[in-house]
Amino acid sequence: VRRRGAVGLALAGLLAGATGRAAESLPVEEVASGVFVHRGLHEDFSAANEGGIANLAFVIGRDGVAVIDSGGSPAQGRALSAAVRAVSARPVRFVINTHDHPDHVLGNPAFRGPDVTFIGHAGLPDAMATRGPAFVANMKGLLGPAAQDIEIVPPTLLVTPGTVRRLDLGDRQLVLQAWPPAHTGTDLTVLDPATGTLFTGDLLFMERLPVVDGSLTGWLTVMEQLARVEASRVIPGHGPSQAPWPAALDGQRAYLTGLRDQVRQALADGLKLAQTVEAIPPPGTEWQLSDPNHQRNVTAAYTELEWE
Ligand SMILES: [Zn+2]
Repeated sequence: VRRRGAVGLALAGLLAGATGRAAESLPVEEVASGVFVHRGLHEDFSAANEGGIANLAFVIGRDGVAVIDSGGSPAQGRALSAAVRAVSARPVRFVINTHDHPDHVLGNPAFRGPDVTFIGHAGLPDAMATRGPAFVANMKGLLGPAAQDIEIVPPTLLVTPGTVRRLDLGDRQLVLQAWPPAHTGTDLTVLDPATGTLFTGDLLFMERLPVVDGSLTGWLTVMEQLARVEASRVIPGHGPSQAPWPAALDGQRAYLTGLRDQVRQALADGLKLAQTVEAIPPPGTEWQLSDPNHQRNVTAAYTELEWE
């Protein structure tokens, strides 16, 4: 299967080049056998990037393809779909959303079809219903033309925290796990045991500053559980196309732990929210896009930790 895959890949590349279709498909890298990753840009949303700021991936099995996060706009979803077709003739069977943020779910419409199942955390349909309209309005303003046909496509196959769901692709099974509130309230990870590859969605940020939108202390707890997942490489939601596991967690753990400890100290010192935001300096140059995300994280941490 591996041999055939390699030949198919070479042929698809030739065909794409010959017909000029390559330009419309997202660049992807095969980081392990049958595991492809598109690397998102470390940018804010813009018309030029069409929402393409998150890492997206797909896994090719004997019976079909599983897409892991669909992109930040329908246009990016179509480009991801073209990237799948450029390397495999097998049908997309599953689209897995790792959480409800727009850069990970707005490509869903590009994959809709009678034989495609959308999958997410048990809380994802509710989160999409309550937060989706604001995300869509915001994205229409930020992306312009690329966002005009935006639509929220919720999952129908749901994974409850504390349970594990296996997806059968024929010759490989993906292991899906939903988590309690961490980066968001709807985080889901995917493990491909065949290659030892873990897809964390935004439970892991690298290079780009992590954003706290669920629970800071919950996230730190989930990270410790995640660190015990047996894998050799991780595909982070933002950052490089792959990194060694679990060492890849170190930078984010240091930032989030420091954030928690400094905010706890500020609360112990009786600082108000605005004083705390002022007092805790942004991290160093190892993190991109830390302004204004760091200040937002301090605010989120303060409002969470003041109830401890
Ligand atoms: Zn993201």
